[in-house]
Amino acid sequence: MTHQASRAATETETIVYVCPMHPEVRQNGPGNCPKCGMHLVPEADAAAHAAHDHHAHDHHAGVAPMDGR
Ligand SMILES: [Zn+2]
Repeated sequence: MTHQASRAATETETIVYVCPMHPEVRQNGPGNCPKCGMHLVPEADAAAHAAHDHHAHDHHAGVAPMDGR
């Protein structure tokens, strides 16, 4: 009995990318967050990160000083 199931379905599976800082930002493919410009990560990867009960430190990357006086 030759049961050759085509397992190529996973090849075309769409990976949803999300922003680690903005879970509402999601798109079908890699890119950057329109809100903070961070690199989007695969949703599965983001979920794995969220699983860790680790306090996210606020990085000051790309933050312009708002001391305009
Ligand atoms: Zn973001």
